[in-house]
Amino acid sequence: MINASEALNIILDSVHPLEKVSAGLELSCGSVLGEDIVAAGDIPPFDNAAMDGFAVRSEDIRKIPVELTVAGEIAAGSVPVKPLAPHETMSVMTGAKIPAGCDIVIQQEWTERTSEGRVTILRSADSGHNIRRAGSDIRAGGTVFTPGTFLRPQEIGVLASLGKRFVVIHRKPSIAILTTGNEVVEIDKPLPDGKIRNSNAYVLSALVRQLGCEARSLGIAADEKSDLLVRIKDGLRADVLITTGGVSVGKYDLVMDALEETGVEIKFWKVNIKPGMPLLFGLHGDKPVFGLPGNPVSAMVTFLQFVKPALMRLMGQKKYTPPLRLHAKLQEEITKSDGKRHFVRGVLVNANGSIGVRTTGSQVSNILTSLSRADCLIILPEDRNQFKAGEEVEVELL
Ligand code: AMP
Ligand code: MG
Repeated sequence: MINASEALNIILDSVHPLEKVSAGLELSCGSVLGEDIVAAGDIPPFDNAAMDGFAVRSEDIRKIPVELTVAGEIAAGSVPVKPLAPHETMSVMTGAKIPAGCDIVIQQEWTERTSEGRVTILRSADSGHNIRRAGSDIRAGGTVFTPGTFLRPQEIGVLASLGKRFVVIHRKPSIAILTTGNEVVEIDKPLPDGKIRNSNAYVLSALVRQLGCEARSLGIAADEKSDLLVRIKDGLRADVLITTGGVSVGKYDLVMDALEETGVEIKFWKVNIKPGMPLLFGLHGDKPVFGLPGNPVSAMVTFLQFVKPALMRLMGQKKYTPPLRLHAKLQEEITKSDGKRHFVRGVLVNANGSIGVRTTGSQVSNILTSLSRADCLIILPEDRNQFKAGEEVEVELL
């Protein structure tokens, strides 16, 4: 059985970014950039006022208070018609281009209109005060973003300010989700004795959609080879196939056999983790296929730990960035005995001003509400089995 880190390496070595496409900026949030973005001009494009106030020359306000002649007004969007002469000021609005000669903008609150056409400056300031210099955010010719950058709303804003109407991004993968199990029924059907509702398909599509990818449900396959084969073949039309259930060692766990029969090469089966040990990963050509366990907690945990990094890579992420891990003080003792990496459902608490974490209690892998109560996963490494109350453990936020 391989360890979690080996499993992740196999997955990351097997998947590659999908092709690049040009997309409208407003549809690009949540995608990964596929080109270098070089600034054609300075941002801001010109020196401008950071506040509503008065444009002055520092030599004119060495001694304050001082009364200056108001020689004009510059609204945002218009340009000064002349430079600032000695002992003159101009009223400027936030974002307006400042006149030549001005090196300070005194905010309105530090001034007083004394008479018609005159203003008294009540406080002095250093040169550069309230002035946003051209190029102080982005310099013309500079590389702003490189391929592999994940585009969030703030990156979209930067691209907009650079005038990028279209950007080159990676196409996002489509994901097919196959639920398996004779006991599983659709959520809008009556629930006969011995059956359970299909929660996994909904959890998995929600996780996929959180990444902005398209999820298609292939329905529920019975634990029969023929039904599995038909639906797996359908699912292989997507960029990624995810199955759930049927990958353990039970008599009716037929997913691996069915996958192999459709030409999937199994890269690994079973990982030294809990929950989620029977996780399976394979390739159909270069198409990744994940066989997730059926237990709801196992399915979600293995998606987050193994499927999500693969989807991020397909979306164009250059280098795997592990989720941020925080250190938290364990509030109770945890003992395990199996040498596996455990993902324990946890709740962050305030431990005298530092971060503490307690478990959600029972860790059996069918209790989905325990994931709902959790706000993090506590990661317990393979090489230790005893964790004392008060010691620091690593957590990943959910
Ligand atoms: P399996 O991995 O097929 O052995 O299933 C393990 C456990 O997960 C069993 O108790 C199943 O009933 C349950 N299970 C399997 N598929 C689903 C599903 N789609 N939704 C909720 N529970 C499931
Ligand atoms: Mg099953």
